[in-house]
Amino acid sequence: MLKLSGVSKYYRTAETVAMGLRKVDLEFDLGEFVAVTGESGSGKSTLLNVISGLDTYEDGEMYVGGEETSYFRTEEWENYRKQYIGFVFQNYNIIDSYSVLENVMIALTIQGYDEDKKKERALELIDRVGLSSHVHHKASKLSGGQKQRTVIARALAKDCPIIVADEPTGNLDSESSKNIISLLKEISKDKLVIVVTHNYDEVADYATRRIRLFDGEVAEDKQIKAYDKVSEEPNIAEYNMSAKSLFGISLRNLIRTPRRTVFTLIVAMFVAIIFTFSYGSFVSETTAAGEYYGGGYFQNVTDSRIILTKYDGSEFTDAEMNRIASTPLVRQVLPHDLVLDSYMFFYTTQDARYEWLDIREIYLSSAFDISENDLVDGDLPSSKYEVVIPEMDGYEVGDTINLGTAYIDYSTPNPSVPESAMDFTISGFTQPQNVWRQRFYFHVDFLTDEAIINRAYSQQIDMNLHLEYQGMNASFGIWRDALQVDDSLEDGEIQFSEGAFEEYMERNFDDTVDLSLISVRLSAMSSFGDNDYEFTSVNPTLYEDQDFYVSYRVNSKTLESAFSYGRNQVSVIVYDEYDANQVISDLQDDDLYYVIYPYGVTDQFSEIVGIFQTIYLTFILGLLLLVIYFVGYLVLKNIQVSKKKDYLIFRSIGASKKDLNKVTIIELVFTMLVSYGLTMILLVINEQVRTSIPKYLRYFNFGSYVFLAVLMVVLAVLLGNRFNKRIFGKSVITSLKAE
Ligand code: ADP
Ligand code: MG
Repeated sequence: MLKLSGVSKYYRTAETVAMGLRKVDLEFDLGEFVAVTGESGSGKSTLLNVISGLDTYEDGEMYVGGEETSYFRTEEWENYRKQYIGFVFQNYNIIDSYSVLENVMIALTIQGYDEDKKKERALELIDRVGLSSHVHHKASKLSGGQKQRTVIARALAKDCPIIVADEPTGNLDSESSKNIISLLKEISKDKLVIVVTHNYDEVADYATRRIRLFDGEVAEDKQIKAYDKVSEEPNIAEYNMSAKSLFGISLRNLIRTPRRTVFTLIVAMFVAIIFTFSYGSFVSETTAAGEYYGGGYFQNVTDSRIILTKYDGSEFTDAEMNRIASTPLVRQVLPHDLVLDSYMFFYTTQDARYEWLDIREIYLSSAFDISENDLVDGDLPSSKYEVVIPEMDGYEVGDTINLGTAYIDYSTPNPSVPESAMDFTISGFTQPQNVWRQRFYFHVDFLTDEAIINRAYSQQIDMNLHLEYQGMNASFGIWRDALQVDDSLEDGEIQFSEGAFEEYMERNFDDTVDLSLISVRLSAMSSFGDNDYEFTSVNPTLYEDQDFYVSYRVNSKTLESAFSYGRNQVSVIVYDEYDANQVISDLQDDDLYYVIYPYGVTDQFSEIVGIFQTIYLTFILGLLLLVIYFVGYLVLKNIQVSKKKDYLIFRSIGASKKDLNKVTIIELVFTMLVSYGLTMILLVINEQVRTSIPKYLRYFNFGSYVFLAVLMVVLAVLLGNRFNKRIFGKSVITSLKAE
């Protein structure tokens, strides 16, 4: 069965070469019960370690069933240990976190034993060693004798032809020693049993052969009594651990070492959060258009505003407005949305830089742009003259501020707030805005106020003046604020400011112009082209004014009919870009409207910038993965390497390196995925967190979540491989001894 021929084993230390075994020639048969004796240091353990493939030998040859072993590589030794050897260690080598039953079963699991037979067999052996009452006790809580009996049960439970025991009774009283030895004998009838003992008497009754070692050499080899030769070939189990077993071991390891698992989980959650936020900002940076895009044509470009006109240019009816308003995620439909593109003045003396009255332009935005969560203080406006403004020094909720449309007359000695200014109460604050034109958020009643709409139209519609004089044409745009209302004028009459207008006429029509022969056509250009309004008048008159720009006057009736205030263009207010995209696709499905989303409009330049941004961010993400890999390695190193002892025990009872590598990786992947799941639940399900911090998580689609999960798995595999390299450094026995 087993033959050693001239086998030598050296131990090379820094200073000397110690001799473990010298040219040992031995042959063993199935059925033998061999007692190995010898004083301490004579090489008994070395002999057993070589025989069981836990240690290597240098010279000679060992044959197993006639097969040479000198060419064995790691895998072959692993198989040999798994299939041939049941080892009873002197120092137990027991998995402390496992119960007695689990310690016995693991040997069978590693051997690939049938799932249902496993438990039965294990319980039987536990019963045989007299530990039935301790089946579910944790190994760390057992006495030395109980541990030794557990290890014997583990070795004997295995379906293998060779049982080796290194001083199995070393830690037991003589009574239990006797029991153990007789048990060994009884259970191992048709096996080869090799027992190392310092007390030959206890095995004398059973031993069929006695070998005495001295200084690494066989000093005596004597047959004591005859043994029953086993004629049949030993039954060699050829199974492998099933995936289910690997998962089972991984899961049990996780459960049995809760501190290690929880620590790893927490670290992994940090990793998940870092990944999520980095990738989240990556996704939102690359998919969401920035505020600097899409500007130009519309003044008030926010992620909350979608602009609609109908294909046929007609007005929106109430029914249509209601229908649009009922589209999911729509918060408000604002008619006369040019109000949003207009601006007002905020008169303030609070700016530290100026001691005098300052005038600042502000955007009119709908309070539906924001929600309670966007407020740092106060509430959303609840009535027409309440307003939410960005946080500013010197202002508090409840303060009154002045807003209006007229310039301050700085030519007076004490410039004051214009009389036309309106009083507003601050109902709340958003985060401070560090932009030139800050956004103030108004109540819907204010944004639909007739006077404000009036003002917005005159401010926002570009007027083009077309003049025709004796067959010659000229045309120019008029300064937006140039329109004034003068009700003393007739309907359809138009007046120009004298100085600038005459100068213009001279420049374009070289002669002194006869005003009575001029025909004037005004066309207004709204956001969607210049067909909104046309007004023709003949014989314009002049009024006295030396302003540099041409200004003009009509009466309010003309103005009103000119602009008609039709609801030809409306703005749909949503919460953010994510919602906007949903609403836009819903509205486009209707196929009734031009849908314009100024915030989402990109130009070519921004697209090129976008490509570079993507490359840059991919690079950053890669770098981050690398950093997290190294940091994660350092943080988890100690806790992962603490598995080493258990893994060595697994290996000594036959588990392969490959399978244990898999176990580590399964554990880590599992932990990473659980942490990832927990993190996602925390971030996504938790409404508070969801709406306040990770706004960009809303850009995630299913693919993003999968991508992150894959990233976590990749990290787990990389880390697992690295830990395994550390765990399985040296040969099994050197590592075991080092432990
Ligand atoms: P025993 O089990 O009979 O007490 P061992 O087989 O443990 O003896 O040791 C045999 C010899 O080999 C001793 O001289 C011991 O010092 C030496 N030896 C055993 N293991 C090592 C080792 N890892 N490194 C160096 N020398 C060793
Ligand atoms: Mg020893």
